[in-house]
Amino acid sequence: MRADSDLVMICTSDIAGQLRGKAVPRHALAARQQIGVGWTPTNVLITAFGPIAPSPWGALGDLCLVPDPATAVDLELPEWGIDECFVLGDVRELDGTPWACCLRSQLATAARRLERDHGLRLLTSFEQEFHYFGAEAQPGLGYALRAHRRLGPFPNRLMAVLESAGLETDSFMPEYGPGQCEATIGPQAAPKAADQASILRELVRATARGLGARASFAPILDPGGVGNGTHVHFSLWDTEGRPVSYDSARPHGVSHVAGAFLAGVLRHLPEYLAMTASAVVSYLRLTPHRWSAAFDNLGRQDREAAVRICPIFGTAAEAPQRFNFEFRAADAAASPHLVLAAVLNAGLSGLEQGLPMPPVTQTDLAALSEADLARTGCRRLPTSLTEALALTAESAWAEAAFGATLVDAFVRHKRAEIEALRDLTDAERCARYAQAY
Ligand code: GLU
Ligand code: MG
Repeated sequence: MRADSDLVMICTSDIAGQLRGKAVPRHALAARQQIGVGWTPTNVLITAFGPIAPSPWGALGDLCLVPDPATAVDLELPEWGIDECFVLGDVRELDGTPWACCLRSQLATAARRLERDHGLRLLTSFEQEFHYFGAEAQPGLGYALRAHRRLGPFPNRLMAVLESAGLETDSFMPEYGPGQCEATIGPQAAPKAADQASILRELVRATARGLGARASFAPILDPGGVGNGTHVHFSLWDTEGRPVSYDSARPHGVSHVAGAFLAGVLRHLPEYLAMTASAVVSYLRLTPHRWSAAFDNLGRQDREAAVRICPIFGTAAEAPQRFNFEFRAADAAASPHLVLAAVLNAGLSGLEQGLPMPPVTQTDLAALSEADLARTGCRRLPTSLTEALALTAESAWAEAAFGATLVDAFVRHKRAEIEALRDLTDAERCARYAQAY
């Protein structure tokens, strides 16, 4: 039983992809919904490794972090060593307006624009990979029942914990890599989908910890190994709850409006890739033949496409409801709120410009000559965080979509992270990220 004096942590999802915040006694939470807790701008420059990136604010400035009670997680499962009490919130200026670097507010703003300007909502389901270190890992047991059995109580506990926290569980699997797992939850609108993606990460860590083990969502653990992706499934719906991504009369079933949205998502991808694949080692994962994403392509039956047109399971009548796309160029070094805000903002740009649907690839782009690749109209994605970040820093679209303040803070933050790892080998960098995430 919780005491009224027990602490509830009020958290924000930040540029480092971490949840950070301050705790207050439960009895004070109602009051904190009005006034929040004090927060400071420079916190958004705390890198995943500790040092604070050069801050334009220094020690100056005050903000407030205001909890959203709809996101509360309150789990007391002493028999499983789990005691989680936290809530997500928005960072606001003292006058109550959203702070430019509040990623949850950025997402809410983009979702509101989609609804206001286009009468559309994005439904999103996060499929997240991670490594669990509490079981004997062995190559060759990808998807194996033996691997699942070796995970012991972890998978069932995790599902129970997620459901107790109000998440709709979809599936769990022992993934391809030794010790690698994947957990997927049901679709939600923004920002709830991103809230739940953050909550899932924390509950995976909490469940592992309760078993005396650790889990890591680092994008890749070993330069030669398999990556951990955060795949974002999405579809468009109108405000009456009708699906609008599917049109059986059009190529690959992609509706006119979904085609324009996808065109924006892919056109701007190089400019916002740093926001979805935010670690130095993310670019070891985003290489061909790792089943991640290496080109800016829309693919069908291709698990290396940046955006994949997913197959439709079920009857033809169910196709409009089930039809969805999968954005694969993201990982858990990025805040799910920023990932989704970026996809939404890019899709919005495609809608606003009325862009035509991108060509659909069904071939291994990495096997093509440079000339043949050019003929597909597809580009190799940036191959390092440095390269991706330079494109973000120069992008007029990114500045208009996210505001100059966020882009500047993001670039400062990530430049400091690159600098902190400059003299390390790839293996050493992976080890640092394995700890950080
Ligand atoms: N592990 C792959 C990645 O880094 C994804 C494998 C799959 O689920 O298709 O994205
Ligand atoms: Mg997977």
